[in-house]
Amino acid sequence: MSLIFYNTLSRQKEEFSPINKSKVKMYTCGPTVYNYAHIGNLRAYVFADVLRKTLEYSGFAVLQIMNITDIGHLSSDRDSGEDKMTKGLEREGKKLTLENMREMAEFYTKKFKEDLEKLNIEMPSGMYFASDYIAEDIKLIKKLEKKGYTYKISDGIYFDISKDKNYGELRGKKTNTDDALSRLEKNVEKKNPEDFALWKFSDSIGFPSPWGNGFPGWHIECSAMSIKFLGEQFDIHTGGIDHIFVHHTNEIAQSECATGKRPFVRYWLHNEFVDIAGAKMAKSDDNFFKLNTLVEKNIEPIAYRFWLLMANYRTKMNFNWEALEGAEIALKRLYNLYIELHIKKGKVNKEYQTKFKEYLGDDLDTPRALSLLWDLIKDENISGADKKATILDFDKVLSLGFKNLKEEKIPSKIIKLSEERELARKNKDFQKSDDLRAKINSLGYEVKDSSEGYKINKI
Ligand code: AMP
Ligand code: ZN
Repeated sequence: MSLIFYNTLSRQKEEFSPINKSKVKMYTCGPTVYNYAHIGNLRAYVFADVLRKTLEYSGFAVLQIMNITDIGHLSSDRDSGEDKMTKGLEREGKKLTLENMREMAEFYTKKFKEDLEKLNIEMPSGMYFASDYIAEDIKLIKKLEKKGYTYKISDGIYFDISKDKNYGELRGKKTNTDDALSRLEKNVEKKNPEDFALWKFSDSIGFPSPWGNGFPGWHIECSAMSIKFLGEQFDIHTGGIDHIFVHHTNEIAQSECATGKRPFVRYWLHNEFVDIAGAKMAKSDDNFFKLNTLVEKNIEPIAYRFWLLMANYRTKMNFNWEALEGAEIALKRLYNLYIELHIKKGKVNKEYQTKFKEYLGDDLDTPRALSLLWDLIKDENISGADKKATILDFDKVLSLGFKNLKEEKIPSKIIKLSEERELARKNKDFQKSDDLRAKINSLGYEVKDSSEGYKINKI
């Protein structure tokens, strides 16, 4: 199965080829756990899940690592403003201690994992708290320090971007004239406006380091943890598009400068945003919907996954309740059509499977994969049993929950009688066929014939 992905680094679609054919190594930037994840955040994880499952579907083993940011993420991605975890503790009226920070992180991580489960997202192979890997951060910063990439100012240790000739490659080397840059908060002590913190000093709470008490910068955790678990160079890195300009740009700079190896990551894949009423959904603004908001409105969370799959991950989506309700109705229709299919075991239809692979292999074209699913379920030339097997095969990637749908368990005696009746019918022994039908009815079941074969229902 050939796989083509849009690589942010090269700004084009590229054929995927991993460093080591036997295992794809993939890193997914995890959530900052100072609040519930909003449904926009969850798009990043549905996307990473479809990507991982597509890789697995095409025969690769995948090692997927995700960090949980429980320290060091300031309200501006550029190392200014309030610490998000501190803000979370303030909001909840809790004292600012490392223990309370951890407790809050564990609470929101548990909620995050529940959300992943509700969306049929497979847990990453490893999911780790950033605060458990401070030693790895320090080791990496020391390496950078030794190579002359760092300098100290009053509030921390910074990375000097002018020392990295490849800085900004991921975002296309935009320079200071950029809008975003002109809005940068000024820190007069910094050598370059875009220099970023590797370690931030803190008098009140923090972790010990060779430079003083404090916290690692937000970007360093992803470099340190991905290098620890995946190596100095690996295959895929995912995240939302907001991470391209600062977080991932800085991750690349510090990783490549520390290890001296390029490229740090071969394929950078980014999901577009889910907007609400044309505006960005933001955890920090408290203007967001959680997955539980859907549950409160009696909408099954899995309908949200289905709605997301209706667009390519690189297309911006505008969330509204009508669209989601429409998606839920469509999904229920698919469920019903599926449940009505023949109970016998069938075979995966190869023609449909080839198309499914082709669509997913084309930069995860889930909208086309879904329309193929509709075509399949309506295709009168394919037996119900084969349709069922093919849908279950597709669902290894789509994960819409077909295999867990409750089916009426038909007693084996009824199945045996139905098969006898089918044989009698084929042999044109209509008397016998009618007698068997009557017997089945007397046992509380009915057999219906259709172009796809027979179906058994409880009366
Ligand atoms: P955070 O918890 O803020 O670090 O974000 C977790 C993930 O969600 C990151 O990959 C972000 O890029 C992504 N993200 C944040 N907001 C949205 C949104 N509105 N739509 C899609 N992805 C988002
Ligand atoms: Zn990250």
